[in-house]
Amino acid sequence: MIKPKTEEEIELLRENAILVSKTLAEVGKVVAPGVTTKKLSEVAETFIRDNGAIPSFLGFEGFPAAICASVNDVVVHGFPSGYVLKEGDIVSADIGTLYKGYNGDSCYTFPVGEVSAETRKLLDVTKESLYRGIAAAVAGARIGDIGYAVQSYAEHFGFSVVRELEGHGIGREMHENPGVPNYGRPGRGTHLVDGMVLCIEPMINAGGKAVYLDRNGWAVHTADHKNSAHYELTIVVRKGRAEQLSTFDFIEKDGTIKF
Ligand code: MG
Ligand code: MG
Repeated sequence: MIKPKTEEEIELLRENAILVSKTLAEVGKVVAPGVTTKKLSEVAETFIRDNGAIPSFLGFEGFPAAICASVNDVVVHGFPSGYVLKEGDIVSADIGTLYKGYNGDSCYTFPVGEVSAETRKLLDVTKESLYRGIAAAVAGARIGDIGYAVQSYAEHFGFSVVRELEGHGIGREMHENPGVPNYGRPGRGTHLVDGMVLCIEPMINAGGKAVYLDRNGWAVHTADHKNSAHYELTIVVRKGRAEQLSTFDFIEKDGTIKF
């Protein structure tokens, strides 16, 4: 039995979600050819700490950095490094906060300079698959409805859904039940109830769905080394329509930066 969050808890989760959303936008401002992924992590960590929060990924199960920075064929959990971003790359920034005892967790995949039309399509479809998933996350529906919405949209464009990783509940712990797979069958799985807070996070591959774990024990790569995109938002299951706690508006509606 998964206990829905109280409205007080949801407000604390909202504070975290907004901070993560703003942090993603700060990172987006510096994404450009010639910038290292380590720099992106430094920008995020400084912004999070300046706002009185803790970058929750740092030290999480031994993760060595403040954010995950996953370039091109890296699906998730890339280590920020001295890698210099180049025109045409994509880089996902997955960011977590711990603030007032609750967690934030969201992710955005940024194009670096001009990307190919095929890559642009992957980004657009992955993000839209997330919004389709959110639309399915209403009270009375089930977890499988979310996965089905994501999967059916992404596969329509010939892309594939990573199976090994999934979204999750969030609260005092970064990862809580239920798991939220990005594939599934309608009407199956955990019942969604008003007040349940979920991170929905499609990981969509341009090529096949197969992935492998890097020798560093963290980074997940596509087996065919084609690009993979990842977007994540935190939402509250509500009657009729889910409520978004995190948002990409700070990235996309700032007026100066257009992704
Ligand atoms: Mg995340
Ligand atoms: Mg997550």
